[in-house]
Amino acid sequence: MIIAIDGPAAAGKGTLARRLADRLGLALLDTGLLYRAVGRRVMDGGGDPADEAQAVAAAQDLGPQDLENPLLRGDDTADAASKVAAIPAVRAVLLDFQRDFAQNPPPRNGMPPGEGPQGAVLDGRDIGTVVCPQAEVKLFITASVEVRAERRVKELLERGLEAIYARVLQEMKDRDARDAGREVAPLAAAEDALTIDTSGLDADQVFARALDFVHSRNTAG
Ligand code: C5P
Repeated sequence: MIIAIDGPAAAGKGTLARRLADRLGLALLDTGLLYRAVGRRVMDGGGDPADEAQAVAAAQDLGPQDLENPLLRGDDTADAASKVAAIPAVRAVLLDFQRDFAQNPPPRNGMPPGEGPQGAVLDGRDIGTVVCPQAEVKLFITASVEVRAERRVKELLERGLEAIYARVLQEMKDRDARDAGREVAPLAAAEDALTIDTSGLDADQVFARALDFVHSRNTAG
């Protein structure tokens, strides 16, 4: 079973993806991390994330250690990620890795090799539309931009970082516009996706709705 979860930043995709993967024993891939790692590599090399040649080279050289960088979670990295993500050649490099992960999910921690999980949860912007259009379950997780900015501010403050609401809101709007407006694989709900607006829901309510949908898809055959 493949579960595709798409939606804008800070809508609750990551939390939901982790909970579904844990409950159903599926492998988990946060595809945003791949784009963040590419953006970070370019920045660390003093380059420009919007430069095609530099971004493609960084995508081709990506290794497992790049995904461990603690700086990947920062907003400056998110900004660079959405710039490299608008370059079709960068997306092409990362596409094979994502599809291979979905088709051959790696064993979860503690599982003996050869006893891999029976599927995967992938979260991102184009999983249901481009990466895994054949996914049995597609979810589009969204929330108003104001709610998402508030959540982001709270998260930054909890991490002991400075956060100004107006600035976070503007950055979120800019990133939404770049992600939804780009020519290749723009952020969009697949036609057969269940959309959940999480603005007035807590994580447990979102999880319950998503799990109901997974079960309904399973019994539908
Ligand atoms: O999900 P996250 O906020 O970590 O993603 C960072 C950026 O990576 C997004 O703003 C988007 O530009 C890009 N991305 C993408 N396609 C995906 C996942 C992320 O374009 N499947």
